[in-house]
Parts: sequence; C-alpha cells; structure tokens
Amino acid sequence: MYRNFSIVPKIMFGRGSFNQLAEVIAPERVTPGSYFVFVLDDIFIGKPLESRIPLEKGDLLLHVNVDDEPKTSYIDALVQQIKQYNEILPDGIVGIGGGSTMDIAKAISLLLKNPGSSADYQGWDLIEIPSVYHLAVPTLAGTGAEISRTTILTGPEKKLGINSDYTLYNQLILDPELIAGVPKDQWFYTGMDCYIHDVESLQGTFINEFSKSYGEKSLDLCRQVFLDDHPDKDDKLMMASYFGGMSIAYSQVGACHALSYGLSYVLGIHHGIGCCIAFDVLEDIYPDGVAEFRQMMKKHDIQLPKNITADLGNDALELMVTTALNLVPLWENCLGSDWKNLMTRERCKKLYLRM
Ligand code: NAD
Ligand code: ZN
Repeated sequence: MYRNFSIVPKIMFGRGSFNQLAEVIAPERVTPGSYFVFVLDDIFIGKPLESRIPLEKGDLLLHVNVDDEPKTSYIDALVQQIKQYNEILPDGIVGIGGGSTMDIAKAISLLLKNPGSSADYQGWDLIEIPSVYHLAVPTLAGTGAEISRTTILTGPEKKLGINSDYTLYNQLILDPELIAGVPKDQWFYTGMDCYIHDVESLQGTFINEFSKSYGEKSLDLCRQVFLDDHPDKDDKLMMASYFGGMSIAYSQVGACHALSYGLSYVLGIHHGIGCCIAFDVLEDIYPDGVAEFRQMMKKHDIQLPKNITADLGNDALELMVTTALNLVPLWENCLGSDWKNLMTRERCKKLYLRM
C-alpha cells in the first residue's frame, strides 16, 4: 500500500522574507474580535527579532522556553493560557524558533481545537478536528520540523509525535538571515540532524526514487555547508533541512535516531546533540556517513561529550535499550526484516556503553 501524504501548501523563501509576515497573515485575520498568537523562543526576548514581529491590537506574544524539549504538560499549560487570554480562538498561530518552538506551535494549534490533553493524541492520525491556521518561521535549520507532519512530544508514558495531516504547517517563511546568529555548536548539532536524516534515508531499505531525489540534494547541500566555505551557507542549510525532511517523509530514519530517542528519554539529551553522539558509534552500520561526519566535526572543531552512559545503572541502561528497540520501523528501514537478529539487546547495549 502506498501512502498518500499531504505537504505544506505555501512557502516563502529568501533573505528578509520575514519582513513580509504581516502581509502573509493579513488574509487569515478573518474573525471579528479574534487575534494572532506569536509563539517566540524566549532566547529572542529583547533581541531585534522580537521588535520586528508585526503585532496588532489584541495579538498575544507568547514566550516559550525550550531548555527542555517540549513536554505534553507544557503544551497543555500553554493552551490553557491562550484560552484564558481570550475566550475566542485565535485566527492563527505563528511559531518563531528552532525545532522545539516549531513543534510547540504545531501542538498548540491542534490542541486549541481538539479536546483533552496533548498526550491523548501521541501516535498516528488520532487528531480528528482540523487545527487553527499555523505558520512557521525557523530560526535554526536541520530538523525538518518545518515540513514534517509530526510534533515530537515527551509525555507521561512515552516520547512520541502527534502525527497527522493537520499537524502540517499551512505556511512557511524561510528567511536564511534568521539563522545567522546561532552559536556554532548548536548550528552544527542541528545541521547534523539533517545530514543524518539524509544518510539514514538514503541507506535505508525503504528508499525509493522520491526520497532519493530529495535526500541526495539535501546531502549535497550539507556537504557544501559543512565541508566547503560558502557565503550563502545559511540559505543552503535552510534548503537542506527542507529537502531532508521531504526525503524522510516518504522513507524513514534509522539506527541513529532510534538510539537518540533512548538518550533523550532516559537522560534528557536534546535531539541534535543526541543524534551526533549516537552516530559517532555507528561506523559498522553507516561507515561512509560516519567517516564524513567525523571530517565535518574536525573542520568545525566540535568535541562531543564522552562517557555519558558511564554512571548509568543497569535498569536505566535497559530502559534505554527498550526505548530504542521499540522503534520498529526505524530498525526495519535500517537493517531489513531480519533486524531483530541483527540488533540484539546485547549489541544495542554495547553501542550505548560506547557513548
Ligand atoms: P531547539 O529548537 O531545541 O533549540 C536549541 C537551542 O537553540 C535553544 O537554546 C534555542 O533557544 C536556541 N536557538 C534557536 N534559534 C536560535 C538562534 N537563531 N540564535 C541563537 N539561538 C537559537 O533546536 P533544534 O535542534 O532546532 O530542535 C530540536 C527539537 O526539534 C527537538 O525537540 C526535537 O524533538 C524536534 N524535532 C522535531 C522534528 C519534527 O519533525 N517535528 C524533527 C526533528 C527534531
Ligand atoms: Zn532528526
């Protein structure tokens, strides 16, 4: 069976395109007495970007904190905050930030319409009511969250996305100027998330010409960004992220992402850096990708944390292994239908112990 999937319908790309935000959302301001909510990463408080947000009377500027990756409890609290602010629903949500903020804005737009807790919808196609209009403005490039049909949340029982067609953004504004000020380490980790999406998609058993076309272009752009020197590297990374997201939309990620979920669930390690730590021990599975990744690390003088699992008790380690191995489609994509014999609990544990 072939999947029939939606993609983001409207996209604006270019340096300074953020200046057109007001005119892009103007046609969406349709309900009398309604307003827009601007979900802004609190790292931008007092920064020039904040003062460029086209707030109109009645709009809500909602600062969000992403020191921890988004939790369902946080989403539920933010939705309550908006409902208390105004009993009318907003006409739209604008998410401005990295993958975490873009995921928060997606989840808010879904939960404003769908009753209950965001934790109730972690899974596939559990959302029944279309979301509020939502628009993303990425300030970091790599995750592909701008283009994906999921918002990844950590809930009381699991870390799992709300996957649905309604999760998809209605509009993107991709302005490469906005990623210029990202600290180098963060820029590298989030960029490598994209590089790893490409390697895992291209080397996976689910690969097809659709995913290959996007994945190869994304990989080529990543090489230009991380191995060459380009004045327009921010433009390139923004498009690499988008193409990488499109590639995995019709294939799947693999071993590295499965292992990074375990690191995140048990140790709270963030997605980008977690993927880098996991990828660095996967030379048996992705020999060419890992060699090139190490070349990129060297070029940008990146030191990964070491011995992060050294002090873990056996129970925590076992939980990590279980979390990783539960991600069946990722392993199937990576190692094929015989994956359970190839990635035993013992082998998985050994990989974690090397991190
Ligand atoms: P992030 O959004 O977690 O941000 C990382 C850090 O960078 C934060 O401290 C943030 O404040 C800061 N930051 C953001 N923009 C900045 C800028 N322009 N200048 C300076 N600092 C800036 O990082 P990320 O790697 O983009 O996103 C990771 C998140 O994305 C995780 O929560 C992960 O689960 C999620 N994710 C989602 C998808 C999806 O398809 N929905 C895919 C991959 C990852
Ligand atoms: Zn990723």
